[in-house]
Amino acid sequence: MKTAIIGGGIAGLTTALALHQKGLGCTVYEKAGELNEIGAGVWLQPNAVKILDALGIKALVSKEGMELDRMEITNNQLRPFREIKDQVVQDDSGNKTIAIHRSKLQKVLYQEVSKHMEVKLGMGYEAHETEDNGIRIRFGEGEASAEVVLGADGIQSHLRQSLFPDSLIRSAGQICWRGISNTVLPAEDLKVGREAWGKQIRFGFSQISASEVYWFAVIRESSLPSSLPPEIRPYLQERFSDFHPLVGQIISNTPEDHIHRALLGDLKRLDQWHSGNICLIGDAAHATTPNMGQGACQAIEDAWYLSQALATHKSPDLAFKVFDTFRRKKVDYIVNNSWRFGKMAHSRLGQSVVRSMMKLTPEKVLMQQMKALYKVQPL
Ligand SMILES: Cc1cc2nc3c(=O)[nH]c(=O)nc-3n(C[C@H](O)[C@H](O)[C@H](O)COP(=O)(O)OP(=O)(O)OC[C@H]3O[C@@H](n4cnc5c(N)ncnc54)[C@H](O)[C@@H]3O)c2cc1C
Repeated sequence: MKTAIIGGGIAGLTTALALHQKGLGCTVYEKAGELNEIGAGVWLQPNAVKILDALGIKALVSKEGMELDRMEITNNQLRPFREIKDQVVQDDSGNKTIAIHRSKLQKVLYQEVSKHMEVKLGMGYEAHETEDNGIRIRFGEGEASAEVVLGADGIQSHLRQSLFPDSLIRSAGQICWRGISNTVLPAEDLKVGREAWGKQIRFGFSQISASEVYWFAVIRESSLPSSLPPEIRPYLQERFSDFHPLVGQIISNTPEDHIHRALLGDLKRLDQWHSGNICLIGDAAHATTPNMGQGACQAIEDAWYLSQALATHKSPDLAFKVFDTFRRKKVDYIVNNSWRFGKMAHSRLGQSVVRSMMKLTPEKVLMQQMKALYKVQPL
């Protein structure tokens, strides 16, 4: 089965690796001329780490990043709303969250995939036609043909627009700045991932390498001035000035050109992710707001389950149906809860509801919820 993957991000490259493990080949077509992901970090939770382990790259990823022992939601002075036992941040096999620079993760994936398959850079998908003997794909530069096409071209997916022109991206009305700071956290904080909540603003951070801290700052769009200064760092320092002094230090140690802005949003639920022999995966299929830190983890789960479905079923159409049926419940749960959580984080009432829930929910229930989130099983 000649398979083309459109997009060489986390979903595309992990799927290529997972297909290879199942003895299935593919070619990855990536729009960017070189893999040079913007400077941000990502937290890979145990469900993703378990799959990276099964694909034989956990040690490589772990070496490039930082294993976290604790994840906390805190007040603006970094005091956790609730102390949670260690086990909640690891799965039954002891996989913990790995915090890593995105470019390092992508490099590990790219190098592993390139050992077995071709990754063609500078190939931006533009259109496709279904023909009698397969699918013809047109790129900005050249053409290719395939029997099966997997669309891993992210939240703004061109392929999705061709398949499902009515698909819509919903804005959450929140702006997120992400940065990489030249900071070493105090020893007791080195293995902690935090999201600190202030007056309808939040700031998250963790160490991602020996000398770098990844951080994100989220502010409601409607509370921003009509025009922002060209240098965002002083503005963020001022907005977060009543936070713990560590937050100010992290921002101030970040070069201005290491700060990137994103408008947060997700993809309105698609009724189906596939059409004929074409299937969407990762953000192209089910982009979520980042509030549960699960977007990339779900892209990695897609890779795992889709490769199993394609290896098991001769008909791609059937494989895609099995994949869709199996994945929907978890993906819907994450997209919907992440959306709600993000809304609550930026409202006074919502914040107090979350605080009360976190304080009152029995630890056993929290553990069950995390176990369900981290569960990865055979298809
Ligand atoms: C602020 C923020 C913080 C986040 N934090 C986390 C986190 O901590 N943990 C987590 O799990 N998730 C997180 N996410 C979500 C995560 O970033 C995404 O879910 C993940 O990157 C999706 O991977 P993907 O491969 O589907 O898409 P992408 O990462 O967007 O990759 C798509 C790839 O396709 C390529 N491409 C685009 N168009 C074309 C085309 N026409 N032709 C060919 N190639 C194309 C792009 O260049 C890119 O390489 C966060 C997201 C945001 C916005």
